[in-house]
Amino acid sequence: VQIDTLLLAPWIIPVEPDARVLRDHALAVDSGKIVELLPAEDAERKYRALEVERLDGHALIPGLINSHCHAAMSLFRGLADDLPLMDWLNEHIWPAEQRWLSPAFVADGTQLAAAELIRCGVTTFCDMYFFPRQAAETAADAGLRVAVGLVMLEFPTPWARDADEYLAKGLDVHDRFRGHPRVRTVLAPHAPYTVSDTSLRRIATLAEEIDVPIQMHLHESPVEIAQSLEQHGKRPLHRLLDLGLLSPRLMAVHMTQIEPDEVQLAARHGLHVIHCPQSNLKLASGFCPVQPLLEAGVNVALGTDGAASNNDLDMLSEMQTAALLAKGVSGSSSAVPAAVALRMATLNGARALGIDEITGSLLPGKDADLCAIRLDEIETQPLYDPLSQIVYAAGRSQVTHVWAAGKPLLRNRELLTLDADLLRANARHWAERITAARSS
Ligand SMILES: [Zn+2]
Repeated sequence: VQIDTLLLAPWIIPVEPDARVLRDHALAVDSGKIVELLPAEDAERKYRALEVERLDGHALIPGLINSHCHAAMSLFRGLADDLPLMDWLNEHIWPAEQRWLSPAFVADGTQLAAAELIRCGVTTFCDMYFFPRQAAETAADAGLRVAVGLVMLEFPTPWARDADEYLAKGLDVHDRFRGHPRVRTVLAPHAPYTVSDTSLRRIATLAEEIDVPIQMHLHESPVEIAQSLEQHGKRPLHRLLDLGLLSPRLMAVHMTQIEPDEVQLAARHGLHVIHCPQSNLKLASGFCPVQPLLEAGVNVALGTDGAASNNDLDMLSEMQTAALLAKGVSGSSSAVPAAVALRMATLNGARALGIDEITGSLLPGKDADLCAIRLDEIETQPLYDPLSQIVYAAGRSQVTHVWAAGKPLLRNRELLTLDADLLRANARHWAERITAARSS
């Protein structure tokens, strides 16, 4: 049988149907899709491939899914650190955004983020930022799959003046990318404290009409809960319940402030929780009770949040943090084992985004979204269990190859769709302008 590509690896971890690690297997890829996963010796007899890639010391896993990020904020990486969420937003991030946001800023910032995402094995990310058209185009040009958030706030930014304009412009972006093979849209009301009841009701209706998911920062910090109790007489989750937003369409990002009855509420309504452990730690926002959520049947996926609050987009280290933090917070060392952490960073993300038919695991028929991690480096020797090495020991510098929909984006750590020198020059250019304006 003639195919495009045959990938051979000592370890292949398909994530679905379960956490097995396949020894000396091959993955057959044709027209961007996974054809078959089979023992290497059978594969070389059965398939004739235009290209054969022998990954001699690698584990092949599904491309990682960063389910929550603000890609263009990469250009604000390190601008303001070591502050609580509300001070960080009000005194640093929002003023910087008012000053610098533009289509060019978002294109350059998203391109920088795309390179970093590819170099840590990500093939899909969900973005929440302004000028989503530029973000989507940039990500798609880099070969990535993206679910681009149609962001909404009540206050003006360089992207839109008011709720009406955010929605109208968002819908234009939605229409523009309709039918695109790798771009989806997601309605993205920013947070309970920045979006009104009226707007939230409209978003609930609109999500049904245009059949897209909703992603929102929710129960991120104690201040948010206190403010909501004061202004609305109820906690944000209950306010959203009353407004008709709790459904399997909703991806609740952060959820660090959550009572046991709210875990059940989330489970009952089929919410997806996007856990961003490093951002929560850095902003001292609190701890998401991942283990109780998983036990209640809630789908929990993983995100890095933006590079201004993390400060990287490293999904390998995010997996490690999620696995470790769950143990510390629950007091149980069996919470979020390695296989579950990997599932959160792949299949669970695809489910949250509603694209698990297309990506998130290595099932035949899905797009060939893949990541190869070198495990023969000193840092991951000896090797008893590849899953354990990937989650607890490997660093992103061990990610060597990445394919999205069968197209190579990274080979031996070299970016194939982006120009690293240009990215560095652009980042430097923005940093010089932003620094000069801050000191003047
Ligand atoms: Zn965020």
